[in-house]
Amino acid sequence: MTQQGKFILFTLDEFASWLDNLILHRKISLIQNHHTFLPDYKAFNKRKTDKYFTWLVSMEAAHQERGFSEIAQNITTFPDGMLAICRNFETLPAGIKGANANGICMEHLGNFDLGKDTMTEEHKHTIVTINALLCAKFKLGISTKSVVYHHWYDLNTGKQVVEGTGTTKTCPGTNFFGGNTKEACQKNFLPLVEQVVVVA
Ligand SMILES: [Zn+2]
Repeated sequence: MTQQGKFILFTLDEFASWLDNLILHRKISLIQNHHTFLPDYKAFNKRKTDKYFTWLVSMEAAHQERGFSEIAQNITTFPDGMLAICRNFETLPAGIKGANANGICMEHLGNFDLGKDTMTEEHKHTIVTINALLCAKFKLGISTKSVVYHHWYDLNTGKQVVEGTGTTKTCPGTNFFGGNTKEACQKNFLPLVEQVVVVA
């Protein structure tokens, strides 16, 4: 575990015990999955030293330029499987319009649109495990009611829309675990999350 300002960098195991000990007063019912788009894997790997904190600080500056008070996400995951706590869990994220009040926002560093970054095995493992840990911690069923993708929400209304309609982003990527639709999530992603054994 290393800390720089509010950012705390963890291995997956360190995060699991941190989460286990966390007492949270805010009610959590939605686990949001996003990709950063930029920085992507190439940008991350280009930096040889201090790449985690440099990118966290840089993302925060970009979010502040867009008018947010601080970095938008509660958690960032990295290509090598490390992850960082960003915005305090007690503070609403600025992740998905209409889904922040009871949400935890996770940004997975990379561009997972088709033909872009190929997710590493370490990154896959962290993303799957962290979704399982958060569902267990907040006593949420592993389903598309609690594990959500940004793509499912209309950017203007903040409501979920039928696939192929409304104004949506591709986030967390058209090739995120084989697709960004609700159907792809149920078929490819949630079965992996269900396989994780969470020791409480
Ligand atoms: Zn997003």
